[in-house]
Amino acid sequence: MKKLLILGSGTAGTMMANHLISKLPKDEWRISIVDQNKTHYYQPGFLFLPFDIYTTKQVKKKGQKFIPKGVEYINEKIDLITAETNQVRLDNGQILDYDVLIIATGTNIAPQEIEGMDGPMWHKNIFDFYTYKGAKALRNKLREWEGGKLVVHITEMPIKCPVAPLEFAFLADSFFKNKGMRDKVDITYVTPLDGAFTKPKATEALHHLLEEKEISEVTNFNIE
Ligand SMILES: Cc1cc2nc3c(=O)[nH]c(=O)nc-3n(C[C@H](O)[C@H](O)[C@H](O)COP(=O)(O)OP(=O)(O)OC[C@H]3O[C@@H](n4cnc5c(N)ncnc54)[C@H](O)[C@@H]3O)c2cc1C
Repeated sequence: MKKLLILGSGTAGTMMANHLISKLPKDEWRISIVDQNKTHYYQPGFLFLPFDIYTTKQVKKKGQKFIPKGVEYINEKIDLITAETNQVRLDNGQILDYDVLIIATGTNIAPQEIEGMDGPMWHKNIFDFYTYKGAKALRNKLREWEGGKLVVHITEMPIKCPVAPLEFAFLADSFFKNKGMRDKVDITYVTPLDGAFTKPKATEALHHLLEEKEISEVTNFNIE
C-alpha cells in the first residue's frame, strides 16, 4: 500500500484530500492528513467578521467535518520532515512514512517582526484581520468605537488575498455610513505599492473609488 501524506488541513490540504480520495485507487493508496488544530477556519470570512456581517460560527468549523471518509485524520502538531527517509515526525513522537508528501501548512502573520506592533496595544488598538483572534478582537472594538482615525495599513507585499485590505477599507466606509457615524471616522489606506493595487487598470479604478468614498490614500509607504 502506498502512502500519501498531507500536512495541514486548511483550505489547501482539505481540498487535496477531497480531490484525491476519488482519484487514487483505494486498494493502492492510503491517504492521511495531519493538523494541529481541531478547528477549520474559513479565512475569507475574517474580512466580514469585524463588521458583524459574518458570525463566528460561519468562519469557525470542526475540521474533521470536511475530511472525506476513507482519509485518516490525525490531530497533532508536525515537528519535523526528514526528506532523506520519507518520514514526518509528530510532536507526540509518532513517525509517519510517506511515498508522496503534500505540504499545505499555510502561512502565519508575524507582527513581532515590526517594532512596536506586537506590543501592549496589539489587539487593543492595533489589529490584524488575517487571524480569527485578530478579526474577532477588531469586531469587538468596532462595535463600541465612537470614531477617530482608522488606518488600513499593508506592511509589506506579497500578502495572501492582496485585495482584502482594499475591501476592508470599503467595507469600513459602508459600515460607518450605516451606523450614521461616517463623519466621525477618518479612513486612510496605506500601501507600500505605488498605487491602490497591483494591476494598473484596477489601480486607476480603485483610486477613483477611494476618492469618491473620501478614503485618503498613502502610497509608497515603507516602514523600517
Ligand atoms: C482576510 C482574508 C481574505 C481572503 N480572501 C480570499 C478570497 O476572497 N479568495 C481566495 O481565494 N482566497 C482568499 N484568502 C486566502 C485564503 O483564505 C488562503 O490562501 C487559504 O485559506 C490558505 O489555505 P492553506 O490551506 O494554504 O493554509 P491554512 O488555511 O492556513 O492552513 C494551514 C493549516 O496547516 C496547519 N499547520 C501549520 N503548521 C502546522 C504544524 N506544525 N503542525 C500541524 N499543523 C500545522 C494549520 O493549523 C492550518 O490548519 C483570504 C485570506 C484572508 C486572511
